[in-house]
Amino acid sequence: MATEQMTFERFQATGKVCEDLGAELCDSSFDEYGKARGRLYLDCLWIQERPTNGWLNGAEGRWFLLIGREDWLSDDLESLERKLYEFAIDEDYIAAGDSAHCQHRDSGRGVCVDCGEFLPSADGEYWA
Ligand SMILES: [Zn+2]
Repeated sequence: MATEQMTFERFQATGKVCEDLGAELCDSSFDEYGKARGRLYLDCLWIQERPTNGWLNGAEGRWFLLIGREDWLSDDLESLERKLYEFAIDEDYIAAGDSAHCQHRDSGRGVCVDCGEFLPSADGEYWA
């Protein structure tokens, strides 16, 4: 199966509003929120939006991302989208985008935030 190459911008552009993540993903773990609203990427990866009545634990952030056993709650949607993009590459949902013309910005985790390419530590050796 060919894995589609995708830059962060293209990945971000697959995002769309979903009014009922539980139904869309056939995942009953959303049921405690009734209809869990959020955003879907690649039709299968999701970021949940704070329900009208707030999160069950009263937390403040607008967007919720869960990957494995890590989760984040933030008002900064793009920062969560970048984590999800890295996850999508790690898990072979997509391949990193064309990096030939990328200036590469390290995410802090050794991955370019723009094209998704893995980067060596920022000691300059990459460019030598
Ligand atoms: Zn890059």
